[in-house]
Amino acid sequence: MESLPPLRDSLAAHGLIANKGFGQHFLLDLNITRKIAKLADLTPDLTVLEIGPGPGGLTRALLETGTRVIAVEKDIRFKPLLEDLAATADGRLTLVFDDALKVDETHLLQGRPAAIVSNLPYNVGTALLIKWLTGPFRPESLTLMFQREVVDRITAGENDEAYGRLAVLTAATASARKVMDVPAQAFTPPPKVTSAVVRLVPSSSPLPEDLLDALQKVTAAAFGQRRKMLRSSLKVLGGENLCQSAGLSADRRAETVDLDGFLSLARALLARTA
Ligand code: SAM
Repeated sequence: MESLPPLRDSLAAHGLIANKGFGQHFLLDLNITRKIAKLADLTPDLTVLEIGPGPGGLTRALLETGTRVIAVEKDIRFKPLLEDLAATADGRLTLVFDDALKVDETHLLQGRPAAIVSNLPYNVGTALLIKWLTGPFRPESLTLMFQREVVDRITAGENDEAYGRLAVLTAATASARKVMDVPAQAFTPPPKVTSAVVRLVPSSSPLPEDLLDALQKVTAAAFGQRRKMLRSSLKVLGGENLCQSAGLSADRRAETVDLDGFLSLARALLARTA
């Protein structure tokens, strides 16, 4: 690892510049990537799944902790540079050139306990989070960089401005905590907004799939018309009757309903369709 050139030199040597189409904003300051690796709180039994290693700044910091890393990168231009990094990693870095939205994480990890750590591409970050929160793959933890506004939407509580579908889905499946803000100037090239790192720990007792599906239906309808009362926003799912079965006043608006309230609505919906 110590024989590696600075990240800027590696990028220059391979003639690589950021491609906005791939949501590329690189962290070239190893002090920041080391801090993120530390916040991931990795234990030796874990294999890290890193999405979008790009030039490998975060990958280097992860490898320095002694962990194994499986890195999934969509932009094939990074192959030679990342292969140079893998050559210094004593077999602890596995490279996969594929679209993270399509990969089967369970297959990649082959039953090993895993943690996801990523400076996510902003254009697919939320879609990836929903895949990990609702899919069959169950990492021990996720330490993820998003735009700060997205982290606010992940961690918001009821009555917060940022409270919506993503906050309810997150609360239903994991605990989430913002652990770091990262200013735009820390990236090359700088994005237009501040970023933040959130750490999520999936719940040890996941919700049954049908309940999770019903929860997604009620939150989609309720927050689809967030300023309206539930009797009206939930009309297609049963409106006033559904609220009554769930023990909630139909006069309420989505933004005031906590996770338990939405779970009651989801259970009532399941009971109606059973
Ligand atoms: N980890 C690097 C860092 O911190 O400097 C790069 C982070 S950059 C914000 C996002 C990375 O994700 C880029 O390398 C980009 O090519 C990659 N990427 C974008 N879409 C992807 C996808 N669907 N699957 C896998 N990687 C993707």
